[in-house]
Amino acid sequence: MQGLMQEWPLLAYKVIEHAALNHPNREVISRSVEGGIHRTNYLDVRNRALKVAQGLEKDGCKLGDRIATLAWNTWRHLESWYGIMGIGAIYHTLNPRLFPEQIAWIMNDAEDKMLFVDLTFIPIVEAIADKVPSLEKIIVYCEPENLPESKLNLISYEAWISELDGDFKWHDFDENTAAGMCYTSGTTGDPKGVLYSHRSNILHGLAANQVDMLGLSSRDRLLPVVPMFHANAWSTAFSAPMTGATLIFPGAQMDGASIYEMLTKERATVTAAVPTVWLMLLDHLEKDDGKLPDLERVVIGGAACPRSMIEAFQNKYGVKVCHAWGMTEMSPLGAICTFKPEIDAMDKDAQMDISVKQGHAPFTVEMKITDDENNDLPWDGKTFGRLKVRGPAVAKSYFKGRGKEDFDANGFFDTGDVSTMDEHGYMQITDRSKDVIKSGGEWISTIDLENLAVGHPDVMEAAVIGIPHPKWDERPLLVIVPKEGKSPKPEEILSFMEGKIAKWWMPNGVEFVDEIPHTATGKIQKIDLRKQFSDYRFNK
Ligand code: AMP
Repeated sequence: MQGLMQEWPLLAYKVIEHAALNHPNREVISRSVEGGIHRTNYLDVRNRALKVAQGLEKDGCKLGDRIATLAWNTWRHLESWYGIMGIGAIYHTLNPRLFPEQIAWIMNDAEDKMLFVDLTFIPIVEAIADKVPSLEKIIVYCEPENLPESKLNLISYEAWISELDGDFKWHDFDENTAAGMCYTSGTTGDPKGVLYSHRSNILHGLAANQVDMLGLSSRDRLLPVVPMFHANAWSTAFSAPMTGATLIFPGAQMDGASIYEMLTKERATVTAAVPTVWLMLLDHLEKDDGKLPDLERVVIGGAACPRSMIEAFQNKYGVKVCHAWGMTEMSPLGAICTFKPEIDAMDKDAQMDISVKQGHAPFTVEMKITDDENNDLPWDGKTFGRLKVRGPAVAKSYFKGRGKEDFDANGFFDTGDVSTMDEHGYMQITDRSKDVIKSGGEWISTIDLENLAVGHPDVMEAAVIGIPHPKWDERPLLVIVPKEGKSPKPEEILSFMEGKIAKWWMPNGVEFVDEIPHTATGKIQKIDLRKQFSDYRFNK
């Protein structure tokens, strides 16, 4: 027997329609790339998204076409996503931090038909446009008077949109239709395309909005520093309009001072970004004696959040940290570290031990750890294994069938992360499986060592890599970027770490550098770091 409930396909336009009807005046605030602060609201975003949809259709775009965006977080980027999805086309976010050749490779793989681009990135497009034969039109997010001279035929977004009246009906189609596309960073081999569907984006947005997850409400003022080009904007482009939360977009300025200005002037209550962004903010706060009176919580994910960062936010600035873990392939949310009641009952130290974990899964994510033979491992907080996941917003394949080996017969996706699960269901990442250090047959977590080292007051950033060792296979080398004006000695760092980790985990050496290489999504680029230190050997 079938249930007698209505068919209501989970299509993205329902989200922006909901926001426009129920939260029409709620603001969407952006630092405009052209300069100044721009203010609009959900009603206007919906109305302009309809014009984008109408314009795309007029330009010959249709169901399944890939429409690329190379842009910062702004209102225009948001309305483009909804306009693109509204005709069943696919927003394809490009990461401007990749090399131009990589961007061209990705655009060709995706066969992008049109491109929406911010003024900042026009030099990239000029360098690659003739290498992407599928590209028919380039629309620049700007007023006509700000359109730059170019050898390319560039069109001003505002001029393009002003010719449309928005008298347009959203298209209906199957909820499993592709809605968005984002390539993985490709740290091993070519990048792989992840294809979100309308259904997965909506289920993921709902899951992210659970109180124990992002827990957004219409009273929240959300500043997503995480770019829309990184892992589907961590669901914020869906979960904020679903709840009617105010959106505050940082535009092109992501340095500590600019983020501080947006957080305080626009009174953000919740914000989200990778740890490197928060390092810059904390540094700025320290130098300028800043305060964060309105900010209630900060979501930190994309890379492990050090204990010292959690302590700084919570103890110095009174901001709750929600450590989070996810992947492009998971839409991306996999876990958030909010406290269950059994954690509330623990003492402060034990609670801090929980806070550094990546968290527990939302409904929609099934998680398990296994050994190399795919046998389930216990949730005892000690045993590490391969972390595998399954759910309605988890990829079942990559674009063009790549990476088949990452998906098993039962539909689980192997995340490539090594982790533990504890008896309360909290997951803790030990390492990427390719970064973990194997010393004398045992594993050393580079993440634990890095997190401990950045707790030293003179350390800005730390990375640990394995160096070949004649007796132990590999031993850890600690690479450090000191804080401005500081020059700590290796012995000081090591003695700071002593007693806080097992003796045999202690790094065999400490090296100081001006900069640690990062990937396009702000993670430490261990491949490059290992190359940089490929001839390095310990003398004992
Ligand atoms: P991406 O798809 O670029 O978001 O990268 C996903 C990968 O980032 C994961 O598989 C993890 O290795 C890493 N990652 C994300 N969040 C965290 C976290 N909170 N702690 C440690 N690693 C993380």
